[in-house]
Amino acid sequence: MLRFLYSPVQSRMSSICHDNCQVPVSAGKSKPLRFLITLANPHRRLRAGTATDNPDPMLTLIKNANVLAPEPLGHLNLLIGAGRILWMGEDKPSLDPRLLAEEVDLEGLWLTPGLIDGHAHITGGGGEAGFATRVPPVPLSQFTGAGVTSVVGLLGTDDVTRSTSSLIAQVRALREEGMSAWCYTGGYHCPPTTLTGSVRSDLVHIDCVLGLGELAISDHRSSQPTFDELVRLASEVHVAGLMTGKAGVLHLHLGDGERGLSLVNRALDETELPPRVFHPTHINRRRALFEEACELSKRGCWVDLTAFPPSDDTDEVGAAAAIGEFLAAGYPADKLTISSDGGGCLPVFDKQGELVKLDFGRSETLLQTLRQLLQNGQPLGRILPVFTSNIATLLRLAGKGRLQEGADADLLCLDETGELRHVMALGRWHVRDGEQVIKGTFET
Ligand SMILES: [Zn+2]
Repeated sequence: MLRFLYSPVQSRMSSICHDNCQVPVSAGKSKPLRFLITLANPHRRLRAGTATDNPDPMLTLIKNANVLAPEPLGHLNLLIGAGRILWMGEDKPSLDPRLLAEEVDLEGLWLTPGLIDGHAHITGGGGEAGFATRVPPVPLSQFTGAGVTSVVGLLGTDDVTRSTSSLIAQVRALREEGMSAWCYTGGYHCPPTTLTGSVRSDLVHIDCVLGLGELAISDHRSSQPTFDELVRLASEVHVAGLMTGKAGVLHLHLGDGERGLSLVNRALDETELPPRVFHPTHINRRRALFEEACELSKRGCWVDLTAFPPSDDTDEVGAAAAIGEFLAAGYPADKLTISSDGGGCLPVFDKQGELVKLDFGRSETLLQTLRQLLQNGQPLGRILPVFTSNIATLLRLAGKGRLQEGADADLLCLDETGELRHVMALGRWHVRDGEQVIKGTFET
């Protein structure tokens, strides 16, 4: 159980703290605190891409956490305030108790960065077997309750009845509800659906748009894009990325088609586009594609696994097995990412393209994959970057994917089997002792 020391000083704090006032915090006995805590103006955004400012001016002290940042850092104490990690250290900082809202002793449990789900159909995907199969929007707790504190939403097959506009609205809704969210413009098809008329313009003018995706290749549901069409779109996201400092990523849905990643390899052979622009996903849907993607990572591309639910498809490579294999074979460990396809439909087609089975993805498959890896004997510090820092680096998500001073306070607390105990997003507890304490607006 969490142990809380509550100090009823909230009203006093709000009366003494004005916009951007600075509260000095005294040092611990051997390591000085390096931060003056700037209490944010609640009307000003802390940084692009995060949720609305945490209006709580109070501090949380997390003690005795076994920190994986994602690399193991040992047992540390963390001071949380204004939605960020303000300080980490071995000593307990001496604080004026009036500043402390709560003190939490994790008693040696693992503390990791929140998971980043880089591919989720936040508006609901699907619709591949008639209108009744359109998946409803994914509520907040299906992310935070699964340890996901940051999500990137996108459109897939249905980029007709679903729009970039509604996708952006859902990003904003999730931010208002307390987690971090972004999205891609476009969807499966060419020309891509956009809000402002072009991919480049969407990236330049809409803060939360990080790239284009999921553009489908090697799939019967794709627009069968030509090589020229693909590299032109890649150039659009690349240039817009340069203009804005965003990732500028072309996130590619890979289908079951035999052509696999041939278009991407050709783009690297024949154009000046950097490999980081191409981010293929679903690479473990069949063995030959997975092996092709492993080789592509050696050319500098990040490659994305999907944490598919268990399946009887013998050609599919399970996500946990794929991570183990990728790392054991010595492929670049910083180039592997994983996402859930949450909210998206997971159809099974026969050779004629006829649908034979339908399910939908859930973000909880990420933690299930992580637990499976732990059961297989993989050290948490070795596998955690796949779920956190690797995608944060590719997508240039400032303050995400790592536990360090100044980073957003997106935290997971896990027991030794990988069971979720507590989740904090932007400095607020969403899950405590396994119970969802913050829910989406219409969740009961
Ligand atoms: Zn897809």
